[in-house]
Amino acid sequence: MPQVGVVGYGTIGKRVADAVAAQPDMSVVGVAKTSPNFEAATARERGYDLYAANGRDAFARAGVPVDGEVEDLVVESDVVVDATPAGVGAAYRDLYEAHGVPAIYQGGEAADTAPVSFVARANYDEAVGADAVRVVSCNTTGLSRLFAVLDEAVGVERARVTLVRRGADPGQTGSGPIDDILPSTRVPSHHGPDVQTVLPHVEVDTMAVKVPATLMHVQTVNCTLASDTDADAIRDALAGESRVLSIPPWLGVDGAGKLKSFAADLGRPRGDLPENCVWAESVTVSDRECYLVQAIHQESIVVPENVDAIRAVTGAASAAESVARTDETLGLGGPLPLAALLAGEAGR
Ligand code: NAD
Repeated sequence: MPQVGVVGYGTIGKRVADAVAAQPDMSVVGVAKTSPNFEAATARERGYDLYAANGRDAFARAGVPVDGEVEDLVVESDVVVDATPAGVGAAYRDLYEAHGVPAIYQGGEAADTAPVSFVARANYDEAVGADAVRVVSCNTTGLSRLFAVLDEAVGVERARVTLVRRGADPGQTGSGPIDDILPSTRVPSHHGPDVQTVLPHVEVDTMAVKVPATLMHVQTVNCTLASDTDADAIRDALAGESRVLSIPPWLGVDGAGKLKSFAADLGRPRGDLPENCVWAESVTVSDRECYLVQAIHQESIVVPENVDAIRAVTGAASAAESVARTDETLGLGGPLPLAALLAGEAGR
């Protein structure tokens, strides 16, 4: 059973560690972080071995025991998930390679940090046996999942997306905007080219605006389909996906705030929503033009992808087996009353 080391135990790393711990076929060997903050305390509380990055002094001063430093963790690991801030993962690449440990990087790293940019629904097989994989960013994961489904169902000729981006994660007290709306004047924004690192044949243009919110991103999507179809056929294709939640009008979920309340009421850990959340009534098709709106929970959407990436690099399972196992353990899709309710006639 692969022993997984998680280097970087913040927003993404702590969720990935818990998801790995929930799997029957892999385990957490330890987690590494720079500071002895509340997340270090919860790592200890959850029983994860804790490794210090950038020296042990701060941990010693706070009286938080550690089990070693980052290199010690890498030595103990069969696979490393690097969930450090953007750019730090690339700086660790030589260390991972020196120990011959496959690494799963995150979307903050440049695409050339790893030979494969990964979304399980789109290109799992490209990552099988790879030395390194980059799980793409939250917005890119949401778009790649969606376009993988639509492309398979009817073909996507070209897509245009406007991303309404959350300004910060809930814990990022130093980021904003607080009272502003910030357009990205770079066109296309970096997200479109990033989707093409996963789905090179899908033409996608993106523009982005950052708003004062911490809950989720919202993406308005328009794509030209390769063949004629109708909105119900698109809704059916999405309803068959375990990592897409179709939100029917009767739920009364009119925005990201109620989506997060819904997740909390469902008892999801940390109120997470790793699925693409598509408002069913927004799906509109006219003359091969498809329109829809989806929300993406930036803190959790990449978590199941990291678990699948671990199975891919270790060659432990096929795409279908891995996705099914990850979804079952994390409570996504499958024969749940919720999935049946949302996928059925009531989901219209
Ligand atoms: P974070 O700041 O919440 O957590 C980073 C963690 O890395 C912290 O535990 C910190 O102590 C640790 N760290 C910092 N420097 C380190 C070092 N030199 N060695 C070891 N550990 C170190 O960051 P995050 O939001 O979890 O982002 C991690 C990665 O995931 C980035 O590439 C980011 O772009 C990507 N990502 C983030 C989100 C999001 O919304 N937060 C979504 C998708 C992808």
